[in-house]
Amino acid sequence: MSDTPAETKPSFRSDVTVELVKHAAGDSDVLWAARVSTAGEQSLEELSKDPERSKGLINFLMRDRHGSPFEHNSMTFFISAPIFVFREFMRHRVGWCVAGDTEITLQSEAGDLHGRTIADLYRLRHLGPATRLREPESVGGGHVRCYDEDTLTAQRAPIVDVIESGVKPLIRITTAEGRTLRSTVDHAVLTPDGWRKAGELAVGDAVMAAATAPHPAQAPVVPGLSRGDDASVARPDSIVSVVDDGEEMTYDLSVEGPWHNFLANGIVVHNSYNEESGRYRELLPVFYVPGEERKLVQQGRPGKYEFVSGSAAQQEITQRAMEDSYIQAYEAYQQMLAAGVAREVARAVLPVGLFSSMYATCNARSLMHFLGLRTQHEQAKVPSFPQREIEMVGERMEEHWAKLMPLTHAAFNTNGRVAP
Ligand SMILES: Cc1cc2nc3c(=O)[nH]c(=O)nc-3n(C[C@H](O)[C@H](O)[C@H](O)COP(=O)(O)OP(=O)(O)OC[C@H]3O[C@@H](n4cnc5c(N)ncnc54)[C@H](O)[C@@H]3O)c2cc1C
Repeated sequence: MSDTPAETKPSFRSDVTVELVKHAAGDSDVLWAARVSTAGEQSLEELSKDPERSKGLINFLMRDRHGSPFEHNSMTFFISAPIFVFREFMRHRVGWCVAGDTEITLQSEAGDLHGRTIADLYRLRHLGPATRLREPESVGGGHVRCYDEDTLTAQRAPIVDVIESGVKPLIRITTAEGRTLRSTVDHAVLTPDGWRKAGELAVGDAVMAAATAPHPAQAPVVPGLSRGDDASVARPDSIVSVVDDGEEMTYDLSVEGPWHNFLANGIVVHNSYNEESGRYRELLPVFYVPGEERKLVQQGRPGKYEFVSGSAAQQEITQRAMEDSYIQAYEAYQQMLAAGVAREVARAVLPVGLFSSMYATCNARSLMHFLGLRTQHEQAKVPSFPQREIEMVGERMEEHWAKLMPLTHAAFNTNGRVAP
């Protein structure tokens, strides 16, 4: 199937798209997590018996900033917005993640497998002159081994990005075959029953793992293993222990679809951010032009300013200048592609007003932190002044979240929109 876009004529948008594509999130998840820790309650009926008590408990947790009960849930959003919004968005270490010493299985085009720690992958991509050495073809060419979630057969997918996710508490899962996974509790792990959060797994459960690639410390590489081998089918491996494992810097990978997973110490895990790739597909000419309601003029000094509507002339020049330069940039992009220049090189001429899309997965606690910073709200105790376009994304995300977790959302507002 060709990946050349049918439409190469630039089009312009002033809005953003935010769809909730997948979720396991409700107020009951918060209550369950909180009550298990205090009363050992495990039944969902218990939670619905006394709605006022439930509301009160959520409010108490929010007010006193007991944050972890708000982490046992998950929402995946599809977001389409200009690239400059994603530059801001990616600063939020909202995702689930794994420890820096986690070995990621890279796969070359020929099918050879190589292990490299996720911290090394981050350093290669983001720090210093070593970027020039970035994942050479001999060690996978920037591709991971991932798995078709339907057939469980191994596939190869490009890494879109490696993200440093901040210092977070970890758990360590150990399996009967000697694999270990050190991740946050909310990291999604593939099991024989589908995706489950690491923190929900217990001794006796199983995770899906690479059949012949045990923990890299024991067998770092399986030379010559290729897609067609029997060994390329993921198999269950039973869990023998789950323990807390301290706090340290964590990382996540963003992997190109359709299978957004990778092998972490030989165990199949999901990733949390996925942006569309400008290396592997031709970028569509959809560009951002502010709508009439977008205030165009900044007044006041840095740190104390406001935005006001522009004049008709300012609106006219904004629209014209943006559209003209977008059209010119996209023509240059097309000319380079037509001359045989690689997409990953040609895309350098495209502006940050180009629309991109991504999947972002988060839990309510990290979403609240994001909303506290990226929306303006009359109930906010700590006012923030986000750029309007990321605020538009935040507002749409909040609408979806408020429907899923109305008590949590109400408590967030009541307590000044500060993440617990
Ligand atoms: C209005 C506005 C203007 C901004 N302007 C700029 C700018 O001019 N330049 C610029 O570079 N950035 C700018 N930023 C980005 C900003 O500095 C943050 O990087 C971004 O908002 C993410 O915030 P965070 O780190 O608190 O959130 P998250 O990454 O979502 O983290 C959530 C929370 O987890 C904890 N945490 C996460 N990682 C760590 C860690 N490694 N160590 C300790 N605690 C951790 C912290 O408590 C943190 O607040 C701006 C942001 C806003 C909202």
